[in-house]
Amino acid sequence: MNKHVDYLIIGGGIAGLMMAYQLEKNGLSFLLIDEGKNSSSSKVAAGMFNPISGKRMTVNWRADELLETLHASFVDFEKLLNKNYLVQADILQAFGNVKESNDFFVQLEKAQFNKYIEIDPAKQDALNDEFGSFGVKGSGWVKTSEWIADYQAYLLKNNKLIYRTTNWDELKRKGEQWLWREKVFNKVVSCEGFQVNQNPYFDWLPFKLCKGQVLHILCKGLNPHVILKKGVYLVHQFEDVYKVGATYEWDFEDEQANETGQEMLLQKLSKLLVLPFEVVHREAGIRPTTRDRAAILGEHPHLKNLYCFNGLGTKGMLQAPFLSAHLLAHIETKSDLLKEVNIQRFKEFYTNSHPLETV
Ligand SMILES: Cc1cc2nc3c(=O)[nH]c(=O)nc-3n(C[C@H](O)[C@H](O)[C@H](O)COP(=O)(O)OP(=O)(O)OC[C@H]3O[C@@H](n4cnc5c(N)ncnc54)[C@H](O)[C@@H]3O)c2cc1C
Repeated sequence: MNKHVDYLIIGGGIAGLMMAYQLEKNGLSFLLIDEGKNSSSSKVAAGMFNPISGKRMTVNWRADELLETLHASFVDFEKLLNKNYLVQADILQAFGNVKESNDFFVQLEKAQFNKYIEIDPAKQDALNDEFGSFGVKGSGWVKTSEWIADYQAYLLKNNKLIYRTTNWDELKRKGEQWLWREKVFNKVVSCEGFQVNQNPYFDWLPFKLCKGQVLHILCKGLNPHVILKKGVYLVHQFEDVYKVGATYEWDFEDEQANETGQEMLLQKLSKLLVLPFEVVHREAGIRPTTRDRAAILGEHPHLKNLYCFNGLGTKGMLQAPFLSAHLLAHIETKSDLLKEVNIQRFKEFYTNSHPLETV
């Protein structure tokens, strides 16, 4: 007999795992399929959350709500997995030049920006702040790779995760439901990150992928409780090891970390850090960034019960808890999707080039 399951999630990065969390929280059954690759955007991410965009000196989209949902979800994960993954830490950001400093003081007039700013933060000797610096409150990071490993292990133990590559040809249509290997699913959510370009049902969406590389450095004398930022950021990992990131590469040939990426990061790091250090590791991932830099949520234009949750871009950790809850509310209660993230905004890109097999 076919077994009915509420949801099938394809992809177990930040997007797929946050979707799984929302389903568990709402008592819905699901199966998550992930390839189990060693490296992915989610696994290399620094997991930083920052209410402001320090380059443009603006407050991030819906920053208050995103932060609130992020914190609440990691309180739940702490209870579930018995570990604290979310580290609250201020950012100490040095201006790269006089223009950045001028832009900053203009923004400071705005209450929404101002409330996150510490104008006179405690100095850190390790930071070269020749043009001045400021502090950002409400920021921090999630120990992302640790959380992914632990939550995936929990799901595996509870028979809610399978490690394998989904071949979309194996998914058949059964009325308005989906059939995959003897199991019937009411709904399917596609969370494959940049590999959505291999998904025949969503490959028409206008993604603009962005490779990112990070270094791990060994450096003694840094304060592990503060994130330093100036062109690149430094986030504590363990003992005297820090993550330095990241590059933003719009033209790239593969997913691998390379010498060129390392050089780009080292050049920027030399302007930030006044302490000696040693590079111990480098890694890379591809961010699922979109044309308008906003996430893509919602149902396929023509296939009922097939959903997209993707396009988290450079801010996966900050956005995924809020947006996964938002998508689930839309699916289950028919509430409207926010227009900025609604898949409908790209409907003119849709081409129906992949006929679907039904059983
Ligand atoms: C260097 C770098 C640093 C970053 N730093 C930060 C940061 O500090 N803060 C932040 O918020 N964001 C950061 N990001 C962005 C963040 O990593 C992404 O927004 C996020 O990881 C996207 O998650 P995702 O689940 O959509 O995609 P992915 O991480 O790519 O996950 C998709 C998963 O689906 C699996 N998959 C794909 N296709 C299939 C298939 N057919 N069958 C089975 N499994 C499949 C993949 O193997 C993968 O596990 C960073 C990204 C990079 C590259």
